[in-house]
Amino acid sequence: MLKEETTATPPPSPPHILIFPVPLQGHVNSMLNLSEILCLSGLHVTILLSDHTHDRLLRHASLRSRFSRYAAFRVATISDGLPADHPRSGQRILEIVLSLKEVGGPQFRRLMEGLSDGGGGAPRVSCLIMDGVLSFTIPVVEEMGIPFIYFRTISACSFWPYFCIQEMIDAGEVPLKDKNEDKLTYWKRKEMDLMVTSVPGMENLLRRRDIPAFCRVEDVGDAGFQSIKTETRRTTQAAALILNTFEDLEGPILDQIRKHIPNLYSIGPLHSHLKALLKEKGMESSHHSSSFWKEDDSCMGWLDSQPPKSVIYVSFGSITMLTRDELLEFWYGLVNSGVRFLWVVRPDSVVEDRIGNGCGNEIPVELVEGTKLRGLMVEWVPQEVVLGHPSVGAFFTHSGWNSTLESVVIGLPMLCWPYFADQTTNSRFVSEVWGIGLDIKDTCDRLLIERMVKEVMMGVRRDELLEKARGMANMANKAICEGGSSHMNLNRLIEFLKSTAL
Ligand code: UDP
Repeated sequence: MLKEETTATPPPSPPHILIFPVPLQGHVNSMLNLSEILCLSGLHVTILLSDHTHDRLLRHASLRSRFSRYAAFRVATISDGLPADHPRSGQRILEIVLSLKEVGGPQFRRLMEGLSDGGGGAPRVSCLIMDGVLSFTIPVVEEMGIPFIYFRTISACSFWPYFCIQEMIDAGEVPLKDKNEDKLTYWKRKEMDLMVTSVPGMENLLRRRDIPAFCRVEDVGDAGFQSIKTETRRTTQAAALILNTFEDLEGPILDQIRKHIPNLYSIGPLHSHLKALLKEKGMESSHHSSSFWKEDDSCMGWLDSQPPKSVIYVSFGSITMLTRDELLEFWYGLVNSGVRFLWVVRPDSVVEDRIGNGCGNEIPVELVEGTKLRGLMVEWVPQEVVLGHPSVGAFFTHSGWNSTLESVVIGLPMLCWPYFADQTTNSRFVSEVWGIGLDIKDTCDRLLIERMVKEVMMGVRRDELLEKARGMANMANKAICEGGSSHMNLNRLIEFLKSTAL
């Protein structure tokens, strides 16, 4: 008797997602949060970090302990091609992307070949999720038949003008700077206050000074400007776009983007989404650092000793560089406001770093005394914990997208001094669309700073800002709960990612 023949098809290998952030603090924070969320959903995850970033995380963050409970999480590294002593901050961050573009291709190919046959014990990579400006990876994954998804870690309201750069060029609205013009003069030009007409949905809102600051170049052929333009437009080739935002915050802009990129997942605010998922699964979610600098916890004791809502927390993020003059203007403004302040001044974040070194650049005594009385300056803090401290009453921020969302979740009013990139647009939305803060872009004069610090902490508009900020915090919280828009979008995204392994 003939035996019935059975053709055993091998079981599909589990989904394995490769996550590739631009190696900068804010991008890595968002991508680590997404990595952990995907691990919680049972996916294999490898995060691809630059050697430099990996080294910083091993030195100052709790990367190992945070991910030790996920057996299916791995880290891979490549070189960013820059010398060890490159500042990787300020205006020079674009060099990271340009350098990666140059040296990253061959390294990425080798890595993918190593991972493609299940190298290192992990299943074959089934999908690449990458930052939106790393398109040198596309030929490699396309050759291997692996789909790719863009995760832009910026706001929808800044992604959209980036997407419309060609339209702005055609309308003569960018580039923004005249030849040989320095920062101080072009900020003051009247044209900067003209309304931008070529970004659909933002007419009557966006002035030229609010366009993402990468457009503040003199030459349309500028390498960074061109790179942002073409890379953003390339998003339409991706299988999907992920944004760290939520529908109640940026719904109308998300709808504009969906006209070009229908497969769009808004799943933020990611940091609080992750916390909620950990709670849902009964897992502890104590603070885990992803910091590139050592966190100074001593500020928590200082905050404990301050009255409720009396402190303005000041931080301009991980990239901002200040001139000595700007630093002093901020410092006088804060001290003269009479408001208590906790101020993060990163090591090496002042351009002429000669403050207080005995070369005639000593700190004025009134600033030293004023700070002793009511302030504390530290190099780096656990920001999410600080923002949630009951003594903190407002956030003086550079409007980086992670910082903005961290503030939104807590419901704190913001005072915005955008430094560059997407921040100039974020701060416009904070003040004019969401009404949860004040925007003081393109100037930093001690009298103005003093006035605005008082305004956000105790001015006539304080109650209104607070009420709107609390309302937005509620909406952020709803978005990540069962049935909320980000929660549902995340479930859809995970189903999509699972389908890439079939
Ligand atoms: N951050 C921090 N401690 C600090 C200052 C900042 O942990 O003292 C974190 C902050 O919580 C945020 C990130 O660094 O998650 C900065 O990202 P953001 O997008 O706000 O700005 P960027 O640094 O990219 O300009």
